[in-house]
Amino acid sequence: MANECVFCKIVKKEIKSDIVYEDEKIIAFYDIDPKAPIHILIVPKEHIPTLNDVKDFSIFSDVIRVATELAKEKNISKSGYKILANCGKDAGQAVFHIHFHLLGGMKMEYLPV
Ligand code: AMP
Ligand code: ZN
Repeated sequence: MANECVFCKIVKKEIKSDIVYEDEKIIAFYDIDPKAPIHILIVPKEHIPTLNDVKDFSIFSDVIRVATELAKEKNISKSGYKILANCGKDAGQAVFHIHFHLLGGMKMEYLPV
């Protein structure tokens, strides 16, 4: 875990967040600055700075399972949703702890994050 990482602090409950899912490997919570009516961040608990640093790709099956479950729970599975991950500077990655945006509840013909 990285000391100054905001998502590690959320994992350790040192920073409050609106958690919608948690297990031993994954935490999911509402984005503090939502870009869609439903905007949830799905975050592997292990501190991995970017997608380039992932070694065990099995984490992605857990992420997709949680995303699809949350999409059903939040009633956006039928209307549709995006799952987005930013990697690095040109993508605008702001938090260097891998995470996946689950976005839905509106028509998105552009990239909101
Ligand atoms: P990215 O640009 O992909 O790195 O996205 C980082 C996301 O984290 C942004 O959408 C932020 O609004 C969100 N974020 C940053 N700090 C917090 C926080 N304390 N709680 C919830 N979401 C956060
Ligand atoms: Zn971290």
